[in-house]
This record gives sequence, structure tokens and C-alpha cells, in this order.
Amino acid sequence: MSTIRTRIAPSPTGFLHIGTARTALFNYLFAKKYGGTFVLRIEDTDIERSEKKFEKDIFEGLKWLGINADESPENKGLYGPYRQSERTQDYSRAIRKLLVEEKAFYCFHTEQELEQEKDELMAAKKPILHVCEYRTLDRKEAEMLTQTKPNFIIRFKTPIGRMISFNDLIRGEVAFESDLLGDFSIAKRVDAALYNLAVVVDDEAMKISHVIRGEDHIANTPKQMLLIEALGFSLPMYAHLPLILGKDRSKLSKRHGATSIIEYREIGYLPEALFNFMALLGWNSGTAQEIFSRDELISQFSLEKVQKSGAIFDVTKLDWMNGEYIRKMPIEELTRLCMPYLTKAHFIHTQSNDYVEHVIALEQPRLKKLSEITEKVDYFFKESAYDKELLRWKAITDDEIRESLNMAINLLQENQEKNITEIERIFLEQASVMGDRGKFLWPLRVALTGKKNSPGPFEIIHILGIKEAIERLIRAINA
Ligand code: GLU
Repeated sequence: MSTIRTRIAPSPTGFLHIGTARTALFNYLFAKKYGGTFVLRIEDTDIERSEKKFEKDIFEGLKWLGINADESPENKGLYGPYRQSERTQDYSRAIRKLLVEEKAFYCFHTEQELEQEKDELMAAKKPILHVCEYRTLDRKEAEMLTQTKPNFIIRFKTPIGRMISFNDLIRGEVAFESDLLGDFSIAKRVDAALYNLAVVVDDEAMKISHVIRGEDHIANTPKQMLLIEALGFSLPMYAHLPLILGKDRSKLSKRHGATSIIEYREIGYLPEALFNFMALLGWNSGTAQEIFSRDELISQFSLEKVQKSGAIFDVTKLDWMNGEYIRKMPIEELTRLCMPYLTKAHFIHTQSNDYVEHVIALEQPRLKKLSEITEKVDYFFKESAYDKELLRWKAITDDEIRESLNMAINLLQENQEKNITEIERIFLEQASVMGDRGKFLWPLRVALTGKKNSPGPFEIIHILGIKEAIERLIRAINA
């Protein structure tokens, strides 16, 4: 295969979206698999809607995910500029060439006229497209008209009666009739290119070999192919990825939860887990394997195994996968990642790092998202307020609760010097003497944690220390 060059071309008009990140990932995996180059280019032709803060978020989000571009605005290669706003001259040259060769023309229709035409087409149930009367106007005449009618746009003179087809690497043969495209717009002025024109000029200048992008762009492909032909550029290969859908099979949106990478980061998903999860949004290896390392994904990825139908975003699966990655993480690392959440919750004062590590280690087997850590371990950092009724096991009386807690205090005091395994053994013996284990152990655990669900009482006593444990039991009795 010739040199593979792929690209992700986001518009900096919003925070890095999960769909864009998935497209970036597939481009990245494909390029890496074949020893190619993955390019990041910023499509900021829409100056009003583009913002630097979004550009920065896109750079940071991709880096956080480990989808590192070989060439980008920050890391320029030989095929720059890597921002559309810096390539205006190239676009103007292409627009002029098309105008001179009469493959494009000036359109002087007003917005109202175009709106009216659209309404009429809709009413007549005809396809919405604009075949422009100005396409046959003499160029010299049109140029003169631009002086008196400055609100023109430039359109492509779409050939009549052509079939435009390409072999999509995911979908196979895809064909469009040129008569259904209309004379589409390519620029607002000679120095203000629009999307289709700019993309084609960029892809040529950047020697992009494979255009891998979302299915929502499939209708742009025949337009871009016509422009490529008209400009004498080389045609890339195309692959259109399935849309990402929510569980209800509608297009993924805010309604389904977080959609931007920054939100996933804040909720406490790990970049490795998200990387793995996104790779499965439309691709599968053909085996039951779900957890893949970065290298495995690079070596196993192929466009042939990308599905045509929508990819369902299952957040329960993401949570499970994130938990799997959390469990594989060294405890020091996990503690470091949990720290910002604990600090934000004002939990961290004078506790030693060892103490915090023990607390985190206790939840490591169950944790799904880093942000959950605060509500899971709050009782290690502060006295938790809880409903006193929670202390009651089944229908035992207040006296029985008190008796259980007193018994626990006594056993702890008597066995202060023993290690936690022995203490556990002594408590369990006592529990079986009492017949109903819950009667003894439930009030104990609730008095320590204030929670319905938590790890077992002995692991907690071990971390809290006997003194603090006894104090909590006394407080429960007094309550
Ligand atoms: N800028 C386009 C977008 O953000 C991508 C264009 C393309 O991939 O051709 O959807």
C-alpha cells in the first residue's frame, strides 16, 4: 500500500465530542496499523462560531485519550498549515481556477429568493436543491455584476446527468446522481471558502490517502469528488463510520448523558478505558474479547470489521470497562487520581498518604468511576450523619441494638493488642453464639459507616483504628 495518511478535521465550535473522538480513534488506529501518519487539522473556516477555547479542548482531549497526532497545529509537519484559517490563499487560488475554467459561477440570488424556492419545492414534494439560472451567465458579465450586487455567493456548476460512485471501504459501492446535488455553494467570496471546497484543498495539500469520517458526511462525498475532479486533484479512499446511537437507537445527544470528552474526564473515566470502549463503537474483533490494550487494537483493527449499522453507546458497559481498568491500576496511581475528588469534597486535612491509600484500596474492587469515591468513602474522613433506624437489624429492639454495640465495644477493648484477623475471628465466634449474625454485625457496621452498603466491618476497623471505631460505637449508643 502507498503511504497512509489519515486525518481528523474537527471544527472548534464546541468541546471535543465523543463522536469526533471515536472518528479520531479509528483514523489513528488505521494509520498506526499500517505505519502511516495521523494528522489533526482544525477546520475553523466558520470564524464566528470557532473559538480558541474549543481548539484547546480538542488538543487536550485527544492527548488525554492518547490519540496523538503525528502532525497538528502544535506539531507541524511538512504539509501545513494545519488550520484552515491559515490556508486562505490556497482556497482562493482553487476558487479562481474554477471560476476561470467556468466550473464555478457567481450566484446573485437573495436569501429570500432561495427560501421561497425551497418552500415551493417542499410544497411540490420535490427534492430540495438549487439549480441556478446564473450558471450560464457570461463570466465577464457576472464579474461586473459583483460590483453592484456584492451579496453574491460562488457555486459549483454541477454537471447534469452524471452518476458519481465510489467504493466505500465500509459500505461498499455508493452511488449518487449528480442531478440530485444541485449547484452547491463553495465560497461566500473568492477569499471565503466554504466547507466542501476547503476540505478538498486541504486533503490534497496534506496528501490524505484515506478519508475516514462519520456517516453524516456521506452526502458531502459526491460533491467533494466533483470538486476533486474539477481541480485535477487525486481521489482519496473513503470510509464512512456508523453513527453513534443512544440505547433508544436515536442519535446520541445530551439527552443520553455526557457527550463531551471533558465531561467523561470529570466523571472519572480513565483515558485507557474510554480508548478501549470507543474502539468498540462500531468495530469488533470478531471474537468475544472486549478488553484490548492499545497495541492489540492497533494490530487487530481493520475497516472491514467496522459495521454499517449504528453503534449503540451503552454506558453500563463503559462503567463496567472502566471498573476493569481501575482494578488493574497500581494503588499509588489510583490514589493520585482520586485525590482531586477527595480534596474537592474537603476530605483531606492531615491524613497520611498511607491512610488514604488504604481507604482507596478498600473500594478498588468495586469502584466504577473515580467521582464515586467521595460518597463511597466519606465516613473515613468525617463523622457521617445517618438515620438511627438504619442501625436496626430486622425487628430487633433498641435494647438489643445497644447490647450488640456494647458487646462490640467490650470485645474491641479486650482485644486491642490483637491483629485484625484475630479480632475478626473473635467477633465471628461471638456472632454465632448469638445465633443471628446480622444481629451482632449489622449495627456494628452501620455504626462505623452510617451506610446501608459498605465493605465488611473488620476491614473498616483496621483502617479507622480501634480507638476511632470504639468512639463511633459509643456515639451510636448515645444516639
Ligand atoms: N469539520 C468536519 C466536522 O467536524 C469534518 C470534515 C471531514 O471529516 O471531512 O464534522
